[in-house]
Amino acid sequence: MNNLRQEHRAACHCGSVRFKVRLTDEFNTVRRCSCSYCRMRGAIAVSAQLSDIAFVEGEDNLTLYQFNTGTAKHYFCKNCGIYTHHQRRSNPSQFGVNVACIDGVSPFDFHEVLVMDGISHPSDATGGPKVAEFLRFSPAE
Ligand SMILES: [Zn+2]
Repeated sequence: MNNLRQEHRAACHCGSVRFKVRLTDEFNTVRRCSCSYCRMRGAIAVSAQLSDIAFVEGEDNLTLYQFNTGTAKHYFCKNCGIYTHHQRRSNPSQFGVNVACIDGVSPFDFHEVLVMDGISHPSDATGGPKVAEFLRFSPAE
């Protein structure tokens, strides 16, 4: 872990899954995603490198969900059902982390959250991957 970045503590709702995480760029990476799964899940995610999450307890309480190509790995607590993190399909070297699981952070803290255009995922496009487009979403609109 890179010690220059702040270490956050995080947990699922029931507290059985606990982890520490350092983010790639603090909360500047908050985003939603419009893919078929994320639009139901509704969580806001921030970015972390795979090596920057360390489980403190309850990693064995996580359940893995995969769909479509199976590239993305969506983890959630099998006890309380809360999504904790996922390994990204768009960048498998990163996890998306549920901001609402991070101590002292509320998803309502963010007034404007970018929406990744996951419904037209770059890996599904003909002609190879392209940079994902972001749609701006403001709850005030
Ligand atoms: Zn839980």
